[in-house]
Amino acid sequence: MPDPHVAASGSLNDQLFASAQRVIPGGVNSPVRAFRAVGGTPRFIARAEGAWLIDVEGKRYVDYIGSWGPMILGHGHPAVLEAVREALGDGLSFGAPTARETELVEAVLAQVPSIDQLRLVSSGTEAAMSAIRLARGATGRNGIVKFEGCYHGHADALLVKAGSGLATFGNPTSAGVPAETVQHTLVLEYNNVEQLEEAFALHGDAIAGVMVEPIAGNMNFVRASLPFMKRLRELCNTHGALLIFDEVMTGFRVALGGAQSVYEKAVPGFVPDISVFGKVIGGGMPLAAFGARRGIMERLAPLGPVYQAGTLSGNPIATACGLATLREIARPGFFDSLAARTRQLVDGLRAAAQDAGVALSGDSEGGLFGFFLTSELPQNYGQVIATDAARFNRFFHAMLERGVYLAPALYEAGFVSAAHGDAEIEATLAAARESFALLGD
Ligand SMILES: *Cc1c(COP(=O)(O)O)cnc(C)c1O
Repeated sequence: MPDPHVAASGSLNDQLFASAQRVIPGGVNSPVRAFRAVGGTPRFIARAEGAWLIDVEGKRYVDYIGSWGPMILGHGHPAVLEAVREALGDGLSFGAPTARETELVEAVLAQVPSIDQLRLVSSGTEAAMSAIRLARGATGRNGIVKFEGCYHGHADALLVKAGSGLATFGNPTSAGVPAETVQHTLVLEYNNVEQLEEAFALHGDAIAGVMVEPIAGNMNFVRASLPFMKRLRELCNTHGALLIFDEVMTGFRVALGGAQSVYEKAVPGFVPDISVFGKVIGGGMPLAAFGARRGIMERLAPLGPVYQAGTLSGNPIATACGLATLREIARPGFFDSLAARTRQLVDGLRAAAQDAGVALSGDSEGGLFGFFLTSELPQNYGQVIATDAARFNRFFHAMLERGVYLAPALYEAGFVSAAHGDAEIEATLAAARESFALLGD
């Protein structure tokens, strides 16, 4: 039976997508790559350099995905490639400790004062899942709070949507997740202080931890408000729950010290209890981590009763890549110039939209940005998905045609790298002016 999604002929991208769909579910190894939200054929990437992706047809795109965050230095940074080449020569994996693992952890601790110890793993999903187990093991409680629109990877306990009212825990969002697996997960609205207070009043002594994206990058770009974050910290303290910052996206991306350093600036002394990292920390290789102060981390095996392990954890090539990346982004002025470049982009998009009579709101922090085709920045998931998806999709395709690769769904954030220069920003804004003009029709 012919699959209606498989084009018989067409461009090389179409042909490769057809072949991929025969042997890989949906043709992709991670769903958002399939372009289902925006429609059309995903581009098969042949290579990348600096701020550019080059597809198999030789078409070049300014890349605002950056592999969904890791490529903060741009593609093919010479110092990173050199570090990886050198590590390759020494062997791919040993299943025994290496000095570079300690070096990488020390480099992270130097930037993130809230943690004393870090455990390395291979994906953000694994890190978030392990952080949940650690929080439960450390508190002896089962309850987990998460927020609608925040993504923490695809561990069973986190694939959950709100139940009916605050008294009930969540329902699975994926087939294959038993209701029992999410019966301890409570899902609340992001930035909703009243709900938070009500949930703690009802369940406070059962809550092991609250997991939050401090700046949410999986519902486009939505900041946790300062009053929300302050109250969350207070409630966790009062009730003995651990505050878990999922900084897989924001870590080493919105600032050298992550989103927690952004909140610490506004609320001196502010720290989360457990931090989860991924994406930039591996510089494009499979590497992620979770960390906390010593007393919590010492609950982990082999010191404590909370089991966690990984054959390829702390892989020597991945640690070389991550370490080289962290060294580059720790150079003086790196984040100031990345943040300025990102603001230049968002300001430019806002101006271009205004000239075309298109409503647009946008925000950024460090090298992470988001924009919405609506005049006010959404504050929670409900408001994000209420924005006009069809309009976004038209804009996405108009930009793609003009050589600008935005994330293929309106609920994804954007990523700028140090390789994005004036020429790339100008090319993007020229494409945006034409694309906004089309939206006016
Ligand atoms: C990407 C992401 C994850 C999952 O990381 P993977 O490496 O894709 O498993 C978890 N949390 C957040 C905030 C993320 O952005």
